[in-house]
Amino acid sequence: MRTENLVATARIEADLDPMLYLDHAATTPMRPEVGEAMAPYLDGRFGNPSGIHATARRAKNSIEEARERIATTIGATNPLEIVFTGGGTEADNLAVIGAAIGTGGGAVTTAVEHPAVLESARFLSRIGSDVSIVPVDGEGRVAPDAVANTVDRGTAVVSVMTANNETGVIQPVAEVARLVRSANDRALVHTDAVQAFGSLAVSADPDGPDLISVSAHKIGGPQGVGFLFVRDGAKLEPVIHGGGQELGRRSGTHNVAAIVGLAVAVESAVAGRSVYREQVGAARDRFELDLRSGVNVEVTADAADRLVSHAHLRFPGIPAETLLVRLDFAGVAAAAGAACHSGAIQESHVLAAMGVGSTEASESIRFSFGRDDDAATGAEAARIVSGVVEDLS
Ligand code: PLP
Repeated sequence: MRTENLVATARIEADLDPMLYLDHAATTPMRPEVGEAMAPYLDGRFGNPSGIHATARRAKNSIEEARERIATTIGATNPLEIVFTGGGTEADNLAVIGAAIGTGGGAVTTAVEHPAVLESARFLSRIGSDVSIVPVDGEGRVAPDAVANTVDRGTAVVSVMTANNETGVIQPVAEVARLVRSANDRALVHTDAVQAFGSLAVSADPDGPDLISVSAHKIGGPQGVGFLFVRDGAKLEPVIHGGGQELGRRSGTHNVAAIVGLAVAVESAVAGRSVYREQVGAARDRFELDLRSGVNVEVTADAADRLVSHAHLRFPGIPAETLLVRLDFAGVAAAAGAACHSGAIQESHVLAAMGVGSTEASESIRFSFGRDDDAATGAEAARIVSGVVEDLS
Protein backbone atom coordinates (compact mmCIF):
# COMPACT_ATOMS: atom_id res chain seq x y z
CA MET A 1 0.00 0.00 0.00
CA ARG A 2 1.33 3.49 -0.85
CA THR A 3 2.24 5.78 2.04
CA GLU A 4 -0.60 8.25 1.30
CA ASN A 5 -3.07 5.35 1.38
CA LEU A 6 -1.70 4.12 4.70
CA VAL A 7 -2.03 7.61 6.17
CA ALA A 8 -5.59 7.91 4.80
CA THR A 9 -6.50 4.52 6.31
CA ALA A 10 -5.06 5.54 9.67
CA ARG A 11 -7.16 8.73 9.55
CA ILE A 12 -10.36 6.82 8.78
CA GLU A 13 -9.56 4.39 11.59
CA ALA A 14 -8.93 7.28 13.99
CA ASP A 15 -12.40 8.62 13.13
CA LEU A 16 -13.84 5.23 14.00
CA ASP A 17 -12.14 5.10 17.40
CA PRO A 18 -14.78 4.42 20.06
CA MET A 19 -15.81 7.16 22.45
CA LEU A 20 -15.29 4.72 25.26
CA TYR A 21 -12.51 2.17 24.91
CA LEU A 22 -13.22 -0.42 27.58
CA ASP A 23 -10.99 -3.21 26.32
CA HIS A 24 -7.72 -2.46 28.10
CA ALA A 25 -7.30 -6.12 29.00
CA ALA A 26 -6.82 -6.77 25.28
CA THR A 27 -4.33 -3.97 24.75
CA THR A 28 -3.66 -0.44 26.01
CA PRO A 29 -2.74 2.79 24.24
CA MET A 30 0.94 3.62 24.37
CA ARG A 31 2.03 6.05 27.07
CA PRO A 32 3.39 9.32 25.60
CA GLU A 33 6.71 8.91 27.43
CA VAL A 34 7.10 5.44 25.88
CA GLY A 35 6.64 6.83 22.37
CA GLU A 36 9.13 9.62 23.11
CA ALA A 37 11.75 7.18 24.38
CA MET A 38 11.31 4.93 21.34
CA ALA A 39 11.24 7.71 18.73
CA PRO A 40 15.00 8.09 18.16
CA TYR A 41 15.30 4.34 17.54
CA LEU A 42 12.55 4.46 14.94
CA ASP A 43 14.03 7.46 13.21
CA GLY A 44 17.70 7.17 12.45
CA ARG A 45 19.27 5.55 15.50
CA PHE A 46 19.94 1.92 14.68
CA GLY A 47 22.35 -0.91 15.32
CA ASN A 48 22.44 -4.64 15.91
CA PRO A 49 23.41 -5.07 19.57
CA SER A 50 25.29 -8.27 18.72
CA GLY A 51 28.04 -6.49 16.72
CA ILE A 52 31.38 -5.13 17.98
CA HIS A 53 31.54 -1.65 16.43
CA ALA A 54 30.37 1.64 17.92
CA THR A 55 26.91 1.55 16.30
CA ALA A 56 26.31 -1.93 17.69
CA ARG A 57 27.68 -0.96 21.10
CA ARG A 58 25.29 1.94 21.31
CA ALA A 59 22.35 -0.39 20.63
CA LYS A 60 23.72 -2.88 23.16
CA ASN A 61 24.04 -0.15 25.78
CA SER A 62 20.39 0.77 25.24
CA ILE A 63 19.35 -2.85 25.77
CA GLU A 64 21.47 -3.27 28.87
CA GLU A 65 20.22 -0.01 30.34
CA ALA A 66 16.63 -1.17 29.76
CA ARG A 67 17.46 -4.49 31.42
CA GLU A 68 18.91 -2.76 34.47
CA ARG A 69 15.98 -0.39 34.79
CA ILE A 70 13.48 -3.25 34.68
CA ALA A 71 15.53 -5.32 37.14
CA THR A 72 15.69 -2.40 39.58
CA THR A 73 11.98 -1.67 39.20
CA ILE A 74 10.91 -5.21 40.04
CA GLY A 75 13.61 -5.77 42.67
CA ALA A 76 15.64 -8.39 40.78
CA THR A 77 19.13 -8.83 42.24
CA ASN A 78 20.83 -9.33 38.87
CA PRO A 79 19.84 -7.59 35.60
CA LEU A 80 20.60 -10.83 33.78
CA GLU A 81 17.53 -12.27 35.47
CA ILE A 82 15.53 -10.31 32.86
CA VAL A 83 15.16 -12.16 29.54
CA PHE A 84 13.62 -10.09 26.74
CA THR A 85 10.98 -11.89 24.68
CA GLY A 86 8.59 -11.12 21.87
CA GLY A 87 5.72 -10.61 24.35
CA GLY A 88 3.75 -12.43 27.03
CA THR A 89 2.97 -15.52 24.96
CA GLU A 90 6.62 -16.14 24.28
CA ALA A 91 7.57 -15.54 27.92
CA ASP A 92 4.95 -18.12 28.98
CA ASN A 93 6.21 -20.66 26.43
CA LEU A 94 9.79 -20.17 27.56
CA ALA A 95 8.81 -20.58 31.21
CA VAL A 96 6.59 -23.64 30.93
CA ILE A 97 8.22 -25.54 28.06
CA GLY A 98 11.74 -24.36 28.89
CA ALA A 99 11.54 -25.42 32.53
CA ALA A 100 10.02 -28.82 31.79
CA ILE A 101 12.37 -29.69 28.93
CA GLY A 102 15.31 -28.26 30.88
CA THR A 103 14.95 -30.91 33.56
CA GLY A 104 12.90 -33.60 31.82
CA GLY A 105 10.14 -33.14 34.38
CA GLY A 106 6.42 -32.47 34.23
CA ALA A 107 4.17 -29.44 34.63
CA VAL A 108 1.32 -28.52 36.94
CA THR A 109 -0.98 -25.67 36.04
CA THR A 110 -4.59 -24.51 36.44
CA ALA A 111 -7.68 -24.80 34.28
CA VAL A 112 -8.05 -21.02 33.90
CA GLU A 113 -4.62 -20.09 32.54
CA HIS A 114 -4.19 -18.06 29.37
CA PRO A 115 -3.81 -20.28 26.26
CA ALA A 116 -0.12 -19.28 26.17
CA VAL A 117 0.34 -21.43 29.29
CA LEU A 118 -2.35 -24.07 28.69
CA GLU A 119 -1.26 -24.76 25.12
CA SER A 120 2.37 -24.92 26.23
CA ALA A 121 1.32 -27.52 28.82
CA ARG A 122 -0.64 -29.43 26.13
CA PHE A 123 2.43 -29.39 23.92
CA LEU A 124 4.47 -30.88 26.77
CA SER A 125 1.85 -33.57 27.21
CA ARG A 126 1.99 -34.40 23.48
CA ILE A 127 5.75 -34.93 23.69
CA GLY A 128 5.37 -37.25 26.65
CA SER A 129 5.68 -35.05 29.75
CA ASP A 130 3.47 -35.54 32.74
CA VAL A 131 0.99 -32.62 32.89
CA SER A 132 -1.68 -31.99 35.53
CA ILE A 133 -4.37 -29.34 35.33
CA VAL A 134 -5.73 -28.28 38.72
CA PRO A 135 -9.42 -27.28 38.80
CA VAL A 136 -10.77 -24.01 40.24
CA ASP A 137 -13.79 -23.17 42.40
CA GLY A 138 -16.97 -21.40 41.23
CA GLU A 139 -15.24 -18.01 41.54
CA GLY A 140 -12.29 -19.14 39.43
CA ARG A 141 -9.82 -19.45 42.33
CA VAL A 142 -7.36 -22.27 42.69
CA ALA A 143 -6.65 -23.73 46.14
CA PRO A 144 -2.91 -23.53 46.92
CA ASP A 145 -2.96 -26.89 48.73
CA ALA A 146 -4.66 -28.53 45.73
CA VAL A 147 -1.76 -27.29 43.60
CA ALA A 148 0.86 -28.43 46.11
CA ASN A 149 -0.81 -31.84 46.49
CA THR A 150 -0.55 -32.35 42.72
CA VAL A 151 3.20 -31.65 42.76
CA ASP A 152 5.50 -34.67 42.98
CA ARG A 153 9.25 -35.29 42.72
CA GLY A 154 8.96 -35.32 38.92
CA THR A 155 7.37 -31.88 38.69
CA ALA A 156 9.66 -29.39 36.94
CA VAL A 157 7.36 -26.37 36.80
CA VAL A 158 4.18 -25.10 38.41
CA SER A 159 2.39 -22.29 36.59
CA VAL A 160 -0.37 -20.26 38.27
CA MET A 161 -1.36 -16.89 36.84
CA THR A 162 -1.34 -13.77 39.06
CA ALA A 163 -4.73 -12.64 37.76
CA ASN A 164 -7.07 -13.89 35.09
CA ASN A 165 -7.43 -12.01 31.82
CA GLU A 166 -11.16 -12.68 31.42
CA THR A 167 -12.55 -12.27 34.93
CA GLY A 168 -9.72 -10.39 36.66
CA VAL A 169 -9.78 -12.96 39.48
CA ILE A 170 -6.57 -12.85 41.53
CA GLN A 171 -4.85 -16.11 42.47
CA PRO A 172 -3.02 -16.73 45.77
CA VAL A 173 0.35 -17.01 44.03
CA ALA A 174 2.56 -16.27 47.07
CA GLU A 175 0.88 -19.08 48.99
CA VAL A 176 1.16 -21.41 45.98
CA ALA A 177 4.91 -20.69 45.81
CA ARG A 178 5.36 -21.39 49.53
CA LEU A 179 3.46 -24.69 49.49
CA VAL A 180 5.00 -25.90 46.23
CA ARG A 181 8.49 -25.30 47.64
CA SER A 182 7.73 -27.43 50.66
CA ALA A 183 6.38 -30.19 48.38
CA ASN A 184 9.33 -30.08 45.93
CA ASP A 185 12.05 -27.47 46.31
CA ARG A 186 13.46 -28.20 42.86
CA ALA A 187 10.25 -27.37 41.00
CA LEU A 188 10.22 -23.89 39.46
CA VAL A 189 7.20 -21.70 40.18
CA HIS A 190 6.00 -19.58 37.27
CA THR A 191 3.38 -16.87 37.25
CA ASP A 192 1.86 -15.17 34.24
CA ALA A 193 1.62 -11.59 35.51
CA VAL A 194 0.66 -10.15 32.12
CA GLN A 195 -2.73 -8.82 33.29
CA ALA A 196 -1.72 -8.01 36.84
CA PHE A 197 1.44 -5.96 36.29
CA GLY A 198 0.75 -2.29 36.92
CA SER A 199 -2.25 -3.14 39.07
CA LEU A 200 -0.82 -5.48 41.71
CA ALA A 201 2.66 -5.48 43.25
CA VAL A 202 4.65 -7.93 41.14
CA SER A 203 8.22 -8.35 42.28
CA ALA A 204 11.20 -10.66 42.21
CA ASP A 205 10.72 -11.39 45.91
CA PRO A 206 12.94 -14.36 46.93
CA ASP A 207 9.90 -16.15 48.39
CA GLY A 208 7.80 -15.53 45.28
CA PRO A 209 7.77 -17.17 41.85
CA ASP A 210 11.07 -18.05 40.10
CA LEU A 211 9.68 -17.12 36.69
CA ILE A 212 7.42 -14.13 35.94
CA SER A 213 5.94 -13.22 32.54
CA VAL A 214 5.23 -9.58 31.66
CA SER A 215 4.01 -8.06 28.38
CA ALA A 216 4.57 -4.41 27.37
CA HIS A 217 1.34 -3.73 25.48
CA LYS A 218 -0.87 -4.35 28.52
CA ILE A 219 0.87 -1.57 30.45
CA GLY A 220 1.15 1.24 27.94
CA GLY A 221 4.15 -0.13 26.04
CA PRO A 222 4.52 -1.37 22.47
CA GLN A 223 3.11 -4.65 21.18
CA GLY A 224 5.35 -7.64 20.50
CA VAL A 225 7.76 -7.28 23.40
CA GLY A 226 7.88 -8.46 26.97
CA PHE A 227 10.17 -10.17 29.42
CA LEU A 228 10.49 -13.25 31.54
CA PHE A 229 12.06 -12.81 34.95
CA VAL A 230 14.24 -15.90 35.45
CA ARG A 231 15.63 -16.25 38.94
CA ASP A 232 19.40 -16.82 39.04
CA GLY A 233 20.10 -20.53 38.89
CA ALA A 234 16.77 -21.51 37.30
CA LYS A 235 17.53 -23.92 34.48
CA LEU A 236 15.60 -23.29 31.26
CA GLU A 237 15.95 -24.92 27.87
CA PRO A 238 15.47 -22.26 25.15
CA VAL A 239 12.43 -22.61 22.91
CA ILE A 240 13.83 -20.33 20.19
CA HIS A 241 17.20 -21.41 18.81
CA GLY A 242 19.64 -19.39 16.75
CA GLY A 243 22.31 -16.80 17.37
CA GLY A 244 22.40 -17.23 21.14
CA GLN A 245 21.19 -13.78 22.20
CA GLU A 246 19.94 -13.30 25.77
CA LEU A 247 22.68 -15.68 27.00
CA GLY A 248 21.29 -18.36 24.69
CA ARG A 249 17.91 -18.23 26.39
CA ARG A 250 16.14 -16.41 23.53
CA SER A 251 17.80 -16.16 20.15
CA GLY A 252 16.92 -13.51 17.61
CA THR A 253 18.06 -9.95 16.93
CA HIS A 254 16.80 -7.63 19.64
CA ASN A 255 14.01 -5.18 18.90
CA VAL A 256 15.88 -2.27 20.44
CA ALA A 257 13.13 0.36 20.13
CA ALA A 258 10.52 -1.97 21.65
CA ILE A 259 12.80 -2.98 24.52
CA VAL A 260 13.51 0.67 25.34
CA GLY A 261 9.74 1.29 25.28
CA LEU A 262 9.12 -1.74 27.50
CA ALA A 263 11.50 -0.42 30.18
CA VAL A 264 9.79 2.98 30.25
CA ALA A 265 6.34 1.33 30.39
CA VAL A 266 7.43 -0.89 33.29
CA GLU A 267 8.76 2.10 35.24
CA SER A 268 5.69 4.23 34.57
CA ALA A 269 3.27 1.42 35.40
CA VAL A 270 4.94 0.72 38.73
CA ALA A 271 5.31 4.42 39.63
CA GLY A 272 1.65 5.03 38.81
CA ARG A 273 0.27 1.94 40.48
CA SER A 274 -1.45 3.48 43.49
CA VAL A 275 -3.10 6.25 41.44
CA TYR A 276 -4.11 3.62 38.87
CA ARG A 277 -5.71 1.45 41.51
CA GLU A 278 -7.62 4.34 42.99
CA GLN A 279 -8.86 5.89 39.72
CA VAL A 280 -9.48 2.75 37.73
CA GLY A 281 -11.07 1.09 40.74
CA ALA A 282 -13.42 4.08 41.05
CA ALA A 283 -14.31 3.73 37.35
CA ARG A 284 -15.06 0.02 37.58
CA ASP A 285 -16.93 0.24 40.90
CA ARG A 286 -19.09 3.14 39.72
CA PHE A 287 -19.81 1.27 36.47
CA GLU A 288 -20.96 -1.88 38.26
CA LEU A 289 -22.92 0.06 40.88
CA ASP A 290 -24.81 2.17 38.34
CA LEU A 291 -25.54 -0.82 36.11
CA ARG A 292 -26.84 -2.84 39.02
CA SER A 293 -29.24 -0.11 39.98
CA GLY A 294 -30.60 0.15 36.42
CA VAL A 295 -30.60 -3.18 34.56
CA ASN A 296 -30.60 -6.93 35.12
CA VAL A 297 -26.89 -7.77 35.43
CA GLU A 298 -24.75 -10.36 37.19
CA VAL A 299 -21.11 -9.77 38.09
CA THR A 300 -18.89 -12.79 37.46
CA ALA A 301 -16.77 -13.87 40.46
CA ASP A 302 -18.32 -11.15 42.58
CA ALA A 303 -17.12 -12.75 45.80
CA ALA A 304 -13.49 -13.09 44.69
CA ASP A 305 -10.63 -10.58 44.80
CA ARG A 306 -10.51 -9.10 41.30
CA LEU A 307 -8.26 -6.69 39.43
CA VAL A 308 -9.72 -3.18 39.77
CA SER A 309 -9.86 -2.85 35.98
CA HIS A 310 -12.10 -5.79 35.12
CA ALA A 311 -15.89 -5.98 35.04
CA HIS A 312 -16.96 -9.35 33.68
CA LEU A 313 -20.73 -9.18 33.43
CA ARG A 314 -23.69 -11.26 32.35
CA PHE A 315 -26.84 -9.67 31.00
CA PRO A 316 -29.36 -12.53 31.22
CA GLY A 317 -31.23 -13.15 27.97
CA ILE A 318 -28.92 -11.01 25.79
CA PRO A 319 -26.38 -12.84 23.62
CA ALA A 320 -22.87 -11.41 24.04
CA GLU A 321 -22.31 -11.13 20.31
CA THR A 322 -25.46 -9.00 19.82
CA LEU A 323 -24.59 -6.77 22.74
CA LEU A 324 -20.99 -6.28 21.60
CA VAL A 325 -22.11 -5.23 18.11
CA ARG A 326 -24.72 -2.82 19.50
CA LEU A 327 -22.17 -1.38 21.93
CA ASP A 328 -19.75 -0.91 19.09
CA PHE A 329 -22.40 1.12 17.21
CA ALA A 330 -22.90 3.15 20.40
CA GLY A 331 -19.15 3.87 20.55
CA VAL A 332 -18.22 1.46 23.34
CA ALA A 333 -15.45 -1.10 22.83
CA ALA A 334 -15.80 -4.20 25.00
CA ALA A 335 -14.99 -7.88 24.52
CA ALA A 336 -16.32 -11.34 25.04
CA GLY A 337 -14.13 -13.16 27.54
CA ALA A 338 -12.43 -15.29 24.95
CA ALA A 339 -12.23 -13.72 21.53
CA CYS A 340 -9.97 -15.81 19.33
CA HIS A 341 -7.53 -14.38 16.82
CA SER A 342 -10.12 -14.45 14.04
CA GLY A 343 -12.39 -12.17 16.09
CA ALA A 344 -15.06 -14.87 16.54
CA ILE A 345 -16.28 -15.55 20.06
CA GLN A 346 -15.15 -18.90 21.39
CA GLU A 347 -16.63 -20.65 24.35
CA SER A 348 -14.61 -19.54 27.34
CA HIS A 349 -12.55 -22.30 28.98
CA VAL A 350 -12.29 -20.02 32.03
CA LEU A 351 -16.05 -19.80 32.57
CA ALA A 352 -16.42 -23.52 31.80
CA ALA A 353 -13.80 -24.32 34.46
CA MET A 354 -15.79 -22.22 36.94
CA GLY A 355 -18.86 -24.32 36.22
CA VAL A 356 -20.70 -21.56 34.33
CA GLY A 357 -23.20 -23.10 31.89
CA SER A 358 -22.82 -22.43 28.18
CA THR A 359 -25.97 -20.27 27.96
CA GLU A 360 -24.79 -18.09 30.84
CA ALA A 361 -21.31 -17.92 29.31
CA SER A 362 -22.70 -16.86 25.95
CA GLU A 363 -24.40 -13.89 27.65
CA SER A 364 -21.22 -12.65 29.36
CA ILE A 365 -18.91 -9.88 28.29
CA ARG A 366 -15.82 -8.18 29.66
CA PHE A 367 -15.35 -4.46 30.15
CA SER A 368 -11.84 -3.45 31.16
CA PHE A 369 -10.90 0.08 32.22
CA GLY A 370 -7.56 1.80 31.73
CA ARG A 371 -5.25 4.30 33.35
CA ASP A 372 -7.02 7.42 32.05
CA ASP A 373 -10.44 6.33 33.31
CA ASP A 374 -12.08 7.47 36.53
CA ALA A 375 -15.48 7.45 38.25
CA ALA A 376 -16.90 9.79 35.57
CA THR A 377 -15.90 7.29 32.86
CA GLY A 378 -17.59 4.54 34.85
CA ALA A 379 -20.81 6.56 35.13
CA GLU A 380 -20.79 7.45 31.42
CA ALA A 381 -20.13 3.83 30.46
CA ALA A 382 -22.99 2.63 32.67
CA ARG A 383 -25.33 5.18 31.11
CA ILE A 384 -24.58 4.02 27.56
CA VAL A 385 -24.51 0.30 28.37
CA SER A 386 -27.80 0.52 30.31
CA GLY A 387 -29.45 2.22 27.34
CA VAL A 388 -28.30 -0.49 24.92
CA VAL A 389 -29.26 -3.28 27.34
CA GLU A 390 -32.73 -1.79 27.91
CA ASP A 391 -33.17 -1.55 24.15
CA LEU A 392 -32.33 -5.23 23.74
CA SER A 393 -34.39 -6.45 26.70
N1 PLP B 1 -1.12 -14.00 29.41
C1 PLP B 1 -2.21 -13.28 29.71
C2 PLP B 1 -2.85 -13.44 31.05
C3 PLP B 1 -2.75 -12.40 28.77
O1 PLP B 1 -3.85 -11.69 29.08
C4 PLP B 1 -2.12 -12.28 27.51
C5 PLP B 1 -2.68 -11.40 26.46
O2 PLP B 1 -3.89 -11.31 26.30
C6 PLP B 1 -0.97 -13.04 27.27
C7 PLP B 1 -0.51 -13.89 28.23
C8 PLP B 1 -0.26 -12.95 25.95
O3 PLP B 1 0.54 -11.78 25.91
P1 PLP B 1 1.00 -11.18 24.50
O4 PLP B 1 -0.21 -10.56 23.88
O5 PLP B 1 2.05 -10.18 24.84
O6 PLP B 1 1.55 -12.31 23.69
